[in-house]
Amino acid sequence: MAEITKVLVTGATGFIAGHVIKHLLQNGQCVRATTRSNNESKERELREKLGIDPDSKTFELVEADVLVADSWEAVLDGCSHVIQLASPTNGFWNEEDEQELSDQAIRGTINILTACSKVLSVKRVIFTSSVLAVSNFRKTTPHTEKDWADVDEGTAYSKSKTLAEQAAWQFLKSLEGEKPFELVCINPGFVLGPYFTRSPGCSAAVIADTLMNKNSRVPHIALPICDVRDVAKAHVTALTSQEAANKRHIIVSDFVFCDKIGKILSSEFKTQGYNPTTAVASRSLVKFLSFFDSSHRPTIASWGIKPNVDTTRMREVLKITPTAIDKTIVDMAYSLIQNGFLPETEQFRAPNNPPV
Ligand code: NDP
Repeated sequence: MAEITKVLVTGATGFIAGHVIKHLLQNGQCVRATTRSNNESKERELREKLGIDPDSKTFELVEADVLVADSWEAVLDGCSHVIQLASPTNGFWNEEDEQELSDQAIRGTINILTACSKVLSVKRVIFTSSVLAVSNFRKTTPHTEKDWADVDEGTAYSKSKTLAEQAAWQFLKSLEGEKPFELVCINPGFVLGPYFTRSPGCSAAVIADTLMNKNSRVPHIALPICDVRDVAKAHVTALTSQEAANKRHIIVSDFVFCDKIGKILSSEFKTQGYNPTTAVASRSLVKFLSFFDSSHRPTIASWGIKPNVDTTRMREVLKITPTAIDKTIVDMAYSLIQNGFLPETEQFRAPNNPPV
């Protein structure tokens, strides 16, 4: 097993990356992290949010864009391990951007892996894919890491993640006998848990909207939830696990229906002046809406289905015992309130120890 000299973490300002970096530093690793645009105040702010000493030399932030191929060899120099979290996909969520989304995801993947194949210090790459690259979850039969999502069936985002991961495995295969690095794929579900980095993205929006009763009803669909702290641990364990090499790993705690998320939030926050959404929308209404707005079609296809995934590799190879769903959801809501992303009610009671 190659010794870890320095770990490159791409997309340092992101939700999952924040937790990964904290975990790495707590484990005594040296971290070089990337952002597309860096300056002194950005680095100071990131260090503060991640609790890193301003003078600590075990952390450095550098500029790099996965869509710019020639920036990576210098950035990778001296790094033995790479955690590829940067996603050129944020901002492109509309179905009409499908082609652009997939093109950028594939291009970013190939740019990084090509550079990794040229920089001799790189021994292992942890690639963050998604459980949506395993399946679009329209059936209850168990899914394993052997499965691949049908790209003609899912959303623009699931298609981009599937094609990007396939591109990564094909790239590794194309290196034939002379594989300079090992690849480990992490396939997380919908990641929730304490949020402290940048402005909240898609996963935080589900908790924020439910807590704030943005919509009076939620669809009857089950989300493959996982905890960001478990996802961070999975990435860090994947750096050194012999059995993880050149394999995929599904990270999911459980499939949870949206109204259950509302009920969990309600039991914690109702007495604190919040009114989380717990009512379920009518299927016939959503089906009717899907005739006019195609973005509702995947919702109808997944309506009422509680899928099933095999998480043996998560538990046995990456040694993850998933965090309880209630804790994941409640901790995320507290962190969104305590970090000023959601309003505090008069009755709000901050927990004794803020979730981290
Ligand atoms: P975020 O959106 O929070 O962060 C992604 C980061 O990527 C941003 O902070 C941004 O940093 C960086 N980035 C964006 N475009 C580029 C680019 N062209 N080059 C370099 N960096 C770029 O993402 P998450 O933490 O939510 O997700 C991280 C990874 O995990 C992604 O690949 C995502 O698809 C995957 N994933 C996420 C799930 C979730 O529920 N959140 C579920 C499953 C998979 P900056 O602006 O500073 O450059």
